[in-house]
Amino acid sequence: MDAPVIVALMNQKGGVGKTTTTVNLAAAMAEAGKRVLVVDLDPQAHATLHLGVDPRGLESSVYDLLLGDEGADPRVQAAENLFVIPAETDLAAAEGELANAPDRQGRLTRALARLGADFDVILLDCPPSLGLLTINALAAARTVLIPMQAHFLALQGVGKLLETVGLMAKGINPTLKVAGVVLCMHDAQATHGQEVVSDLRAYFDSQRQADAPWKNAVVFDPPIRRNIKLAESPSFGQSIFQYAPWAPGAADYRALARNVLDRLNPAPTVPAEPVEPQPEIVILMPEETARSPRRHRERSA
Ligand code: ADP
Ligand code: MG
Repeated sequence: MDAPVIVALMNQKGGVGKTTTTVNLAAAMAEAGKRVLVVDLDPQAHATLHLGVDPRGLESSVYDLLLGDEGADPRVQAAENLFVIPAETDLAAAEGELANAPDRQGRLTRALARLGADFDVILLDCPPSLGLLTINALAAARTVLIPMQAHFLALQGVGKLLETVGLMAKGINPTLKVAGVVLCMHDAQATHGQEVVSDLRAYFDSQRQADAPWKNAVVFDPPIRRNIKLAESPSFGQSIFQYAPWAPGAADYRALARNVLDRLNPAPTVPAEPVEPQPEIVILMPEETARSPRRHRERSA
């Protein structure tokens, strides 16, 4: 059986759509016949709740996977083809405990090497920080998806995020790639949003020759429109496909799932060449964007 495609949904900013995208992308892929595992790495356990699993009273959780005994298997089935390794609030302590643990960055990698074989796709819902839980996700992942909103300040956050991915790729996960950005809560009419999206596209296009994990990154189609049904469904413990399968949010995530799967397959079968340690990486995007003449005019206008 092929190794699963492991995708980290990452953005150190909260409230940008990571969990909504993880859960609904997972549900869309499961609906399309893929065997999907969601790993909830956020102590807030939002993905767990969204998938209809009560994080209270669980026998085991992702905490046990990271810090418990080697045989822990906390997966819970949420729907056909769809499983979750739930989070619970204990996970908040995991960050501190991991700091003193041996192999503190590679815990998730090892656990998924053991449990991942049953799945085609594993989606890692990261917490809103660049701490050790996110680092574990970046160590285990093959690729990174960045959910974000098309706001100017969000671009600066993406610069920092790419820097972190770059460091992981120079270090413990040399094959790590950035698949691209998913635009969440998108308003296609907003001029400001359109500018941010074109800046982002231009930046990724400028990186095609670069030796960086984001050299093939794209802004995924379609953007996910703001849709109230997406905001309501978590409180029912349902994905959008259970809660409102005809809503625009369902159509968007279904189409996104197709495009993400197309880009992730076929899986590369050739192991990557060992990578020489490189000097410091330079990320131009935030400064470039901040200094762009258009922004200047906009601000002084
Ligand atoms: P994160 O995981 O990055 O913190 P969430 O996925 O939890 O972000 O989203 C933040 C909030 O925005 C949640 O209340 C969620 O229901 C809502 N939300 C996310 N995407 C949409 C959307 N496309 N339309 C409407 N509400 C959304
Ligand atoms: Mg979240």
